[in-house]
Amino acid sequence: RWELDWLENRARLTPNKNAVILEDNNMKWTYRELNNRSSSVAGWLKSQGVKKGDRVALLSPNDISYFDLLFACGKIGAIFVPLNWRLSAHELYEILLDCTPGLLGIHQNFENMFTSLETATPQSFFVGGDYYERIVNEKNEFSYSENMSEHDPLAIIYTGGTTGKPKGVVLSHQSIQWNAINTILSWNLSEEDVTINYMPMFHTGGLNALSLPLLMVGGTVVIADQYTGQKVVQSIQQYNCTIILLVPTMYHLLIQTEEFQRSNFPSMKIFLSGAAPCPLPVYESFQKKGLAFKEGYGLTEAGPNNFFIHHEDAEVKRGSVGKPMLFNAIKLVKEDGQEAKVNEVGELLIKGKHSFSHYWNNKLATLETKKEGWIHTGDLAKKDEEGFHYIVGRKKDMIITGGENVYPLEIEHWLAGHPAVDEVAVIGLPEEKWGELVVAFIVPKHSYLIEEEELIEYCEKKLGRYKIPKKFIQLQELPKTHVGKIDKKKLKEFSKQN
Ligand code: ATP
Repeated sequence: RWELDWLENRARLTPNKNAVILEDNNMKWTYRELNNRSSSVAGWLKSQGVKKGDRVALLSPNDISYFDLLFACGKIGAIFVPLNWRLSAHELYEILLDCTPGLLGIHQNFENMFTSLETATPQSFFVGGDYYERIVNEKNEFSYSENMSEHDPLAIIYTGGTTGKPKGVVLSHQSIQWNAINTILSWNLSEEDVTINYMPMFHTGGLNALSLPLLMVGGTVVIADQYTGQKVVQSIQQYNCTIILLVPTMYHLLIQTEEFQRSNFPSMKIFLSGAAPCPLPVYESFQKKGLAFKEGYGLTEAGPNNFFIHHEDAEVKRGSVGKPMLFNAIKLVKEDGQEAKVNEVGELLIKGKHSFSHYWNNKLATLETKKEGWIHTGDLAKKDEEGFHYIVGRKKDMIITGGENVYPLEIEHWLAGHPAVDEVAVIGLPEEKWGELVVAFIVPKHSYLIEEEELIEYCEKKLGRYKIPKKFIQLQELPKTHVGKIDKKKLKEFSKQN
């Protein structure tokens, strides 16, 4: 059990070090305090009848209660389920019916959701207010559950829902620990590191990708909410942050601010982008300022972190996510089942201790995704002669036009470099002659329309004929999923209707 409750061990090693800071009110908690909070919550959960294997759900904006409940569940063998507060009450209800938690914590800011969700769980309670702080400070006693193992589930994290309904990814103690170990070793994290977390903590990007690894190594996590490009610059300065992880949409907003242009971020060691492909102009903005910037690839089912690249390499190998992390096996497999050779595209398969256990309540999806321990990610990738990997796109997004395979990402990367293009997404639409038609959605900068001939001419400079979009649709903005990824499902629906 001692190896499962790693927060307890961390609190012994660095009791007085700041573990968590809440940006909202500048409240700070040391490792000892963080551990005591979660032990007290563990005792309270037990007193409420929570047993090993029971689910405890949380609906909250980014807050310390995520860590309290995650570690509390870990101490008593329960399963923590963070919920996406951007979903509608109906969607949340469905998720609650799927994971059937015995207890649901609702942050007081979401008081209005209480009545609609209350009936989906036997018991609900408020977090964030005096009632919750009393639980946290009561010094409730708990005892470790018997027969706990590293293979026991610790959390169910629902996926981003980019390709369909969110799936409940069951992550064991082992999975979360080994993602942290891989990440600490690869990103060279240390006690000196400080991050500010704007990523939603109900998503793997806000919880597992950087925050938990940083807590394991004894660094400091500043919890933030309500992202703006201006605010992040101030926060980085205020807390002397050394590392940050944002999604491309957040970077896109950041590089347009005057604050970004003015600051040289002296405390920062590295800026990381993840969760979706990062447009090259974002890279370039950082490179121009001499700031270290790199892209990571991940998915809820595998850690999420899988690859590592030194930022010096990232500058040369534009768009590469790097090489597999230390304790991680990677294979690229072609349609015919053979492993892809250098520069050939194949589906990315991942295996390691950071792997998920299964999808909650979804045997079929588990069987389709996890075969002999290998996670079939549904993402396409290739590697170069030196072993650097490039994500080419999602298998589902690949377009077959006139018998040729077209990877939307290649076209998106190129079009994003056009000086008048702000954002771009490429999809395939069914069509009789070509099978599928390459269609580009463009958000022009400063809202003026770009001549189609100009876009075609620009594409001709780089892309083969069959890859050049047959249709350009200009919009004021692109639809995004709840975690800020471009929502291609919505774009396809939009095209059908227009
Ligand atoms: P769902 O599984 O419900 O459709 P989702 O795939 O968005 O949602 P996540 O686990 O949040 O669920 O995201 C993982 C996916 O995000 C990966 O499979 C990959 O397609 C994409 N992704 C993550 N990082 C990158 C990256 N650096 N470049 C390209 N794609 C990325």
